Amino acid sequence: MNVIAIDGPAGSGKSTIARALAARLGVEYLDTGAMYRAVALAAMERGIAGTDTAAVGSLARELALDVGEHGVLVDGIDVTAEIRSPEVTAAVSAIAANSEVRAELRARQREWAVQRGGGVIEGRDIGSVVFPAAILKLYLTATPRIRAQRRVAESGGDVETIERAIAVRDAKDSTRTDGPLREADGSIVVDTSGLAIDEVLTTIEALLNGAK
Ligand code: C5P
Repeated sequence: MNVIAIDGPAGSGKSTIARALAARLGVEYLDTGAMYRAVALAAMERGIAGTDTAAVGSLARELALDVGEHGVLVDGIDVTAEIRSPEVTAAVSAIAANSEVRAELRARQREWAVQRGGGVIEGRDIGSVVFPAAILKLYLTATPRIRAQRRVAESGGDVETIERAIAVRDAKDSTRTDGPLREADGSIVVDTSGLAIDEVLTTIEALLNGAK
């Protein structure tokens, strides 16, 4: 199985790079953050408290989740825009700290890769936990200010407020016990702060050629 694992904090360029890399390689791309966001949205819509770990775990197991190039469907309903709302962004880290949710979503991520023989997969624990034998493990990062500026360019807002919100989410994602955000063993750190998208892709393609 040829998995390229891309992990890193919010605004590090993971989604943009993973999507562009998959297109260049002619393989599929999976945004695992969208899966956690979809569970968080579904819990909010059903009035299930994030603190009710058993109920959120059952919800994750029951939901029909379809995450792909076409967008994100939950039980057949398109929630591509809703999962990016500030409310979901604020709620998702607590949902992602739930071990029942993580176990379920990891199993679905592995199944996705098995069905396709691999692909480009991005998230927080992809190289460290889900695919430790990936052919290439990348950890993308960038300075907090640049990450916040990228978010503002995408969805607007005030850069200092967004930078603080990102710091809170990073802290929650890095300190949870199950699958914390960290550099996986054997991962290559790419600081995208001063790099254009094409420069990051060229760097990754060189690494990939070296890894083959
Ligand atoms: O990448 P994105 O910002 O959409 O991810 C949303 C949230 O999903 C992250 O803040 C994190 O809490 C969670 N997540 C995770 N493990 C992954 C991918 C995302 O815990 N593999």
